[in-house]
Amino acid sequence: MHNVPMPADAFCSYCLRPRTDTGPLVASPLATICRQCAAGAVKLIDAAPRQADLSGPSTPWDSLTDDDLLSRLPDVAEAGEQVERHLRTWVDAARQRGLSWASIGEALGMTRQSAWERFTRPEPQEQSTLNVKPSKTSAPRQR
Ligand SMILES: [Zn+2]
Repeated sequence: MHNVPMPADAFCSYCLRPRTDTGPLVASPLATICRQCAAGAVKLIDAAPRQADLSGPSTPWDSLTDDDLLSRLPDVAEAGEQVERHLRTWVDAARQRGLSWASIGEALGMTRQSAWERFTRPEPQEQSTLNVKPSKTSAPRQR
């Protein structure tokens, strides 16, 4: 099994510290986690009741105030950008193996052309640090 190299600017999805601070990260397709956060997560899981209370807060935002919820949105957006960068790393690895754009596109449920266009463009972070793209269509109308 091959390790896919992690981007140099990778960071922990939980504490948002860069890999240069956290040390090694473990990555899934959706997130990365550092040793410290993984250890904290294990403690939380160990402390949780064996029988999960499904009537309690089930999402991270249930217990947040409106301001706290809004203040977390940039973190979530940044995590999305990290996922995109991670996907690009995997696609790069597939290309380095000589896999075709057609096979990559098929794996992602898109056409060869769509895959090529999506992954040969500059990374979003090079276009905008916040990845806020000006919309070519008009903004949705208020109801
Ligand atoms: Zn962390």
